[in-house]
Amino acid sequence: MRGMARAVAFGLAIAFLAGACGGAGTGGTAGTSSPAASAATRPKFEVQTFMYSIQVKGKLRVGTQEDNPPFSVKNPTNSKWEGFDTDIGREIAKAIFGTQGDPDSFIEWVPVTSATRIPSLTDNKADVIIKTFTINEDRKKQIDFSDVYFSTGQRILVKKTNDQIKEVVDLGGKTFCAQRGSTSEQNVTKAQPAAKALLLDSYPACLLALQQGQADAVSTDETILFGLVKQDPNTKIVGKYFSDEPYGIGIKKNENSDRNGFVAFLNTWLAAAIKDGTWGKLYEKHITPVSGDKKTAPKG
Ligand code: GLU
Repeated sequence: MRGMARAVAFGLAIAFLAGACGGAGTGGTAGTSSPAASAATRPKFEVQTFMYSIQVKGKLRVGTQEDNPPFSVKNPTNSKWEGFDTDIGREIAKAIFGTQGDPDSFIEWVPVTSATRIPSLTDNKADVIIKTFTINEDRKKQIDFSDVYFSTGQRILVKKTNDQIKEVVDLGGKTFCAQRGSTSEQNVTKAQPAAKALLLDSYPACLLALQQGQADAVSTDETILFGLVKQDPNTKIVGKYFSDEPYGIGIKKNENSDRNGFVAFLNTWLAAAIKDGTWGKLYEKHITPVSGDKKTAPKG
């Protein structure tokens, strides 16, 4: 049953892709370049840094989710990863390997869910987690984060016909769906301890649970809910923000000097991507189609 629900939910994520992205690829420029040209345009790093070791390995392992629109979706028709978070991964790959060629040739995509994000880093299965990952004190005890690259807050999705649930307090005695291992679950439980949680491994799966009546509401970050409402116009977003959700790029802590210079590198890259307009272009490409607004910076 769970597998079935997941398959249908995945179909919903794909429907999103067809609607919002027009099925177009987002892989950057596929091109060929001579080894000499590649070497000439490749950024230079000190040998003791993590960026140098990634360059030598030839791959950046980017952990993200297969079905988390509008941030990351693996399109089954062409196996291409699409969305805001995936393009952030491509920009970081370009900052490490240079801008020549297809950035995907330097990326190994590592599928994660909310619950597997931290273990993927601590078990050294991914170099970066870029997956709607809220920075908080609890998580900072286990891993490091970049500066904030996206900012949102938590709200609630219900069926359009529902006029009972208006704010988080109204979830008392009701079932809400959130992703296992997310702050979304914790925030509702903290604000309304009488709410019942249905924990699944993706938000499209939660949308399906709402449609099928297993949940009265879905609650998570507003921008993720924008993606769900786009998939199902018979739903609506209600209530005020009841949390702040600043996203960071997650990385393993620099134990044994195995991540030297990486947080500083990511923060320098991010500041430049905001300043040169790259961030705003990615927002317009992936978020504007569901949010309707435009931004040029995470807090702008
Ligand atoms: N931003 C929240 C979190 O990091 C919810 C989104 C998610 O689960 O990916 O837990």
